[in-house]
Amino acid sequence: MRRIQVVATGGTIASRGGVEGRRATVLAKELVASVGPLPAGVEVSTRDVVTRGSYAFGTADLLTLVREVRGALHAGADGVVMTHGTDTMEETAFLLDLAFDDPRPIVLTGAQRPFDDRAADGPANLGDALAVAADEAARGQGPLLVFDGFAFPARGVRKSDTMSAHAFTAPGRGPVLRVVDGRVVPLSQPRPRPRFPLDLDLPDLPRVDVVPVYPGADGLFVRAALDAGAAGVVVAAVGAGNAGPELVEAVAEAVASGHPVLICSRVHSGPVAPLYAGGGTELHRAGAVFADDLSPWQARLLLAAASAVPGRSPEALVRAWLAGEDPPSGS
Ligand code: ASP
Repeated sequence: MRRIQVVATGGTIASRGGVEGRRATVLAKELVASVGPLPAGVEVSTRDVVTRGSYAFGTADLLTLVREVRGALHAGADGVVMTHGTDTMEETAFLLDLAFDDPRPIVLTGAQRPFDDRAADGPANLGDALAVAADEAARGQGPLLVFDGFAFPARGVRKSDTMSAHAFTAPGRGPVLRVVDGRVVPLSQPRPRPRFPLDLDLPDLPRVDVVPVYPGADGLFVRAALDAGAAGVVVAAVGAGNAGPELVEAVAEAVASGHPVLICSRVHSGPVAPLYAGGGTELHRAGAVFADDLSPWQARLLLAAASAVPGRSPEALVRAWLAGEDPPSGS
């Protein structure tokens, strides 16, 4: 018997329509009941943590969700399924990825259409998530996001459609499992994941802001972020990791004052690299860290988590993680 703990947090999967708009109200037991017969040999217990839209979560809420998963694993669950709003599911999945190297499956899912929609996609997604969480093929894959028949690893998964039931992709990486009529089909072998020294009992993560680049973007938002107390900044750069001279200057000031800056792209797919004179090469020269193909939203959590580790260089922790290495000791 596989014991799966369902942790419900709200989102569209738990929402019903109303005069003010959709609102999450459906609790975990009703969600599980909507799936119909459970896969053979699976025993499910449920827990409601919050019942909200994920657009309203702060980083302290994300840490609470991570602690819920820790509690379920400590209590001996063979797998955990978290129902969650799709808007920020890629962030919670990523934080879970930093938090756990436990081989037991941790699976997030949700829905694009509400619980009371006549074509609700939540029951099928939750059924697939339970099948994945109970399957040997999901062990050692790290936290997975299961949606519309595919399971994506946490790192690199992105919401890529605002409305479609095929809401998630992992550009350049792809899914690792597929669910076909309740059967889990492996598409690739688990990849090693670097460990990360995240303290799950922190009340919150340090502030890290994302600053967008666009024609005419200057240093205003980088400086404003540091004035607001940010430990560092993620730049959602243009193209392969470029920004104009005024923004580059503000990045150089930030790095010189001990605030790490990560460079990601506002482009949906592909890695960043310091290639262009006066753009990426200048950001590189200023000491910014190019964050591979990480989205600005996941990079923000990586830098915030690294900035929360006492007595360690956040930049060294980030660089090691990006290189696929375990954390350097005593950096
Ligand atoms: N659109 C969202 C969802 O799919 C709302 C949220 O993130 O809670 O659940």
